[in-house]
Amino acid sequence: MKLGFIGIGYMGRHMARNLAKGGHQLTVFDIRQEAAEELLSMGSSWADSPRAVAAASEVVFTSLPNPQDVEEVATGEWGILSGAAPGSVYFDLSTTDPDTVHRIAAAGRTKEVTVLDAPVSGGTIGAEEATLCIMVGGERAAYESYKPVLDLIGDKVMYCGELGSGAVCKIVNNLIGMSLRVLLPEAFTLGIRAGVDAKTLFEAVSMSSGDTRVMHTYPDGLFKGNFDPGFQVDLAAKDVGLATEMARNLRVPLVLSNLVQQHYIEAQNRGWGGLESSAIARLQEENAGVEIRA
Ligand code: NAD
Repeated sequence: MKLGFIGIGYMGRHMARNLAKGGHQLTVFDIRQEAAEELLSMGSSWADSPRAVAAASEVVFTSLPNPQDVEEVATGEWGILSGAAPGSVYFDLSTTDPDTVHRIAAAGRTKEVTVLDAPVSGGTIGAEEATLCIMVGGERAAYESYKPVLDLIGDKVMYCGELGSGAVCKIVNNLIGMSLRVLLPEAFTLGIRAGVDAKTLFEAVSMSSGDTRVMHTYPDGLFKGNFDPGFQVDLAAKDVGLATEMARNLRVPLVLSNLVQQHYIEAQNRGWGGLESSAIARLQEENAGVEIRA
């Protein structure tokens, strides 16, 4: 099948590679052309714009940082919808909000292009190993037709419901994950100050009710003071912001989540936006005068 892929970043490069390895003919674009080198060496083709990607593809995927990037790439002058043939399908794998998804899908309908939201979870390792969870919202028939293609990039592909449902599931998931990244350092600095080392705390919690996947990123990350990005603070801040904004629109009080958002804003103002999201722990380390290292 002829597939298009736009946004070859930390996630996109792995997902695109897995689609190509699945035997599909890939056309790719990114504002950083050098990001495509590996894919081009594997036989993928380069296109000069999202429009050109769409013109060459039956199905287009995007994996882009923010909702604004997605909307521009989808509906802009040189965007996907300006080049996509009637009957083609577009899956957005980025984390965006349901309103953006609905606007893009409405524009898609005028061109007879089916748009689905399909955000992913599982991090760069899940992307590399094709073990992502993919949360899909939109037309069920299109989901079912292209599920075998989605299966190439994730082993937990889920139909969430009508358009925007995938985005809602992803925002809920990330609000939990990003909040834990603020809470865990509070608990760990407390335990360390009280005299128990980080490794022992990790082992005890990992066998107890406080265990969480977020904590399992610590041995290779926070415990080593390694903040090389896979999932950047800027993207974490974006995701928490998507949740609090959605909650305001829906009049759902989110008392703790809005506090969590302030931590991410502060981390961005410290210049940590490009670091791995676990770098949020450094705020609590400073406040407590305790480092969480093992
Ligand atoms: P990234 O910043 O590494 O990659 C984004 C890519 O898009 C970059 O290569 C960038 O050059 C390109 N890009 C930006 N604007 C563009 C434009 N207008 N046209 C074409 N290309 C453009 O981000 P990422 O970490 O790969 O994340 C991508 C999406 O996936 C985000 O929405 C993020 O929230 C989500 N996500 C990330 C992770 C993770 O662990 N990194 C996990 C799950 C979901």
